[in-house]
Order: sequence, then structure tokens, then C-alpha cells
Amino acid sequence: MKKIVIAVDGYSSCGKSTMAKELAKQIGYIYIDSGAMYRAVTLYCLQHHLFSGNTLDLDALRKVLNDIKITFVKNPETGRSETFLNGKNVEKEIRTMTVSNKVSIVAAAGFVREEMVRQQQAMGSEKGIVMDGRDIGTVVFPHAELKIFVTASPEIRAQRRLEELIAKGENVNFEEVLHNLTTRDRIDSTRKDGPLKQAGDAVVLDNSEMTIQEQNRKLKELYENRVNEGLARSL
Ligand code: C5P
Repeated sequence: MKKIVIAVDGYSSCGKSTMAKELAKQIGYIYIDSGAMYRAVTLYCLQHHLFSGNTLDLDALRKVLNDIKITFVKNPETGRSETFLNGKNVEKEIRTMTVSNKVSIVAAAGFVREEMVRQQQAMGSEKGIVMDGRDIGTVVFPHAELKIFVTASPEIRAQRRLEELIAKGENVNFEEVLHNLTTRDRIDSTRKDGPLKQAGDAVVLDNSEMTIQEQNRKLKELYENRVNEGLARSL
């Protein structure tokens, strides 16, 4: 069957990755978490002291950007793809609040986006890919056959994220998580390059009142409808 490109965009912690990953598994597509790439660059910046408070040394980052190699490797035990930064598994480190609090600053740098978008487009050149992020349906794959824009209320997103972080042993509270989400949404939506915005042809999926199973089912249904429409058109 002809493969398509599926772009899943939306606000921070709205469950995009969970549903995108599950759909990719079910239909045998590659899944790419584009946020993990911006998170890995951010971790590199923190490790190399490129931040002074919330100020990022853009000139220094520009010089070393080519030294930052991000790869995804499947963990044979869990079957899940994990993020590697210059050959080291950083899957856990990139999900900490320390990285979450700085990532939108890194992701606002035009030259960083240019390079990440280039790598993401190369990953999707054969189609058969589900990618989640903020600018996938608008910038990375503007011709994606299926675009989803996921949303949920900030409080619901913060509560879900809080539970995830606590389960991972992070010492955080609801206000801190809510503040991180709303700050990232603001920076991500207002930046000049690749801002978070709904593509004109995206389907909106508000999962505030949905269970994970319901949202997975909905996404699968959207995929099947799109593939059937495509087949009907080519008859
Ligand atoms: O998806 P996730 O929340 O892990 O993304 C982390 C951050 O990476 C976002 O808040 C945003 O600043 C940035 N990002 C982006 N463009 C993407 C994916 C993520 O700017 N396509």
C-alpha cells in the first residue's frame, strides 16, 4: 500500500508523542519525536556551558552545531526508539525539567531550526513516517497527506505531565509544571521561525476528555479515512 506522511503537531505535553508512537507501531511506520532533537541540542548547550541564566550564547552554538550528532536507536528490550547525542544514550536526561526549562530558547534560534528541519525532511524522504512536533505540518512536511493538531487544556496537560515526571522520580509540583508548559507554548507560538501554529488543512483533536485508548482509536480512524480517500481518488 502507498505510504503517506503523518504530521502530528500541538501544544506541549498534550499527548502527541504517545498517540503518534502508537499509530506508527500499529501501521508499521517510522516514528520520529522531533522535540527530542531540540532537547538533545539543549542538553549539549547545558553540558558545554552555553547558557548564562536564560541567555544562550548563539555565536558559540553556531560554531559547534555541526559537532552535535543526534541519532535514534531502537532499544531491543523495549522495542522503543531512544535518543543518542554524540553516541551516548540521553533519553532520560533530555526529559528532565532542567532541559524542559531551556529547550524553547534553543528552539527559537533560526539556524538551529534550519538544521533540524533539514535532518527531519531527510528522515521522511521515503514517506511511511509519523513525526510529532510543532512545525511538522507547516514547515517540515507542508505536503503531508495527514496533519493532526492536538490540543487539551493547560491544566489537564500539566496534571498528566506532573504524573509522568513524579513516576520518573523528579521532585516537581503542579505550578512548576504548568508554568513550564505555558511558557514554552508562549515562546513556541510567538517565535519568528517555525512557530507553533495549526496548519490550515490540519484536523484538530482535542483530547482533554479522552482516554489514551480513545485518542489512539481516533487517530487510527483518521489515518484509515485518509488512506481510503487517497485510494478512492486514484481509482
Ligand atoms: O515535544 P516536546 O515537548 O518534547 O518538545 C520540546 C520543545 O522543543 C518544544 O517546547 C519546542 O520548543 C521545541 N520543538 C520545536 N519544534 C518541533 C518540536 C519541538 O520547536 N518540531
